[in-house]
Amino acid sequence: MALIVQKFGGTSVKDAPSIARVAGIVAETYSEGNDVIVVVSAQGDTTDDLIAKANEINPNHSRREHDMLVSAGEQISISLLAMALEKIGLPVVSLLGWQAGFTTNSSYTAARIKKINKERLQNELDSHKIVVVAGFQGINKYDDITTLGRGGSDTSAVALAAALHADRCQIFTDVTGVFTADPRKVKGAVKLSEITYDEMLELASCGAQVLNNRSVEMAKKYNVELEVLSSIEREPGTIVKEATKMEKMLIRGVAKDNDVARISVLRLPDSPGIAFKLFSKLAYRKVNVDIILQSVGRDGTKDITFTVPRGDDQLARDAVFEAFPDLTEDNFIVDTNVSKVSIVGAGMETHPGTASQMFEALFDAGINIQMISTSEIKISVLVDQGDADKAISAIHDSFFPED
Ligand code: ADP
Ligand code: ASP
Ligand code: MG
Repeated sequence: MALIVQKFGGTSVKDAPSIARVAGIVAETYSEGNDVIVVVSAQGDTTDDLIAKANEINPNHSRREHDMLVSAGEQISISLLAMALEKIGLPVVSLLGWQAGFTTNSSYTAARIKKINKERLQNELDSHKIVVVAGFQGINKYDDITTLGRGGSDTSAVALAAALHADRCQIFTDVTGVFTADPRKVKGAVKLSEITYDEMLELASCGAQVLNNRSVEMAKKYNVELEVLSSIEREPGTIVKEATKMEKMLIRGVAKDNDVARISVLRLPDSPGIAFKLFSKLAYRKVNVDIILQSVGRDGTKDITFTVPRGDDQLARDAVFEAFPDLTEDNFIVDTNVSKVSIVGAGMETHPGTASQMFEALFDAGINIQMISTSEIKISVLVDQGDADKAISAIHDSFFPED
């Protein structure tokens, strides 16, 4: 008998027929003699709708109340799925995050799981119940509800699989696996049979939302093998695992991230300590800086350009003006009309020419590159947002030509 964790995302539980389909999958796994823990997200667009409601009442609401509200979406899904399982005569119990033992830190809206108290879960499993757990949520040391950040149900599932040493962790979604690019946007995207943790982590961090990046980080840390598959079309999905015995592909995928703002600070003094002054103010405000470009000093001045998450552009602006109070508006440019386009693949480490092939594809498509950054297994470029989809397709066509 095995312990299997199955996670179903928002589209998979969006309405009554979808919930019935999910109940069928869970029932099949349970009737094969397995222990089953099911993690579910809020139905369809529920989380977005709740956030819209909050902003309608008070756009400056506290993050505590935000979490109190959005965690409600998952409460609806767990009870509905449990009712669907009751209907087919199976023993089931639904649990909120805190009932399932999730304790987190107190960073409302982006909480980190600290520990899972397994007692209740284990008792329910011992009495042969299917346990349906609300994803995305936990409780902090003040007994307040917290949430793990958008897409956080993936992390809830992986954390349960790690804590209970599950034999399998399946992430069911609305596509049949991880593809070489978003299959809804890129014609000719190909499903991968497997991908390494590191590659999946880079792809997820670069905008491929099929898995939440923290869930991949956790899967790697605790060596939880993941299977990403469809709840609609029953076919083998994509395995996410350690690199052993996996064929190295030059490029495993292409991803796009629109959640970027580009900030340029012009004509700063070309003297030591300037970058430190700027980035320490950004760090103090917990602004995550991604790509950084500094020009060569000329006539005693230099420019520094960097990217931040789009929602942090105001915080970044405050940091810049605090670091350099004498700056004027002429020295400061924010552009929120940009996208980051990335290619990811472990093969590029040993294959010269990957960057030039990417840049050639962009040149052939007439797309201007604003910034470039690289790591061992990733190359990212910043482009105008209006060019991003064309850029993705051009790069994808170049690395994955259709035969
Ligand atoms: P869920 O609600 O199940 O968590 P998400 O919407 O978070 O589902 O993630 C699934 C979506 O991720 C797909 O519908 C697809 O459009 C998108 N996606 C982006 N990049 C990729 C990729 N490389 N492979 C597969 N899906 C991707
Ligand atoms: N419902 C949450 C969200 O929409 C969590 C999740 O779907 O994983 O972000
Ligand atoms: Mg998701």
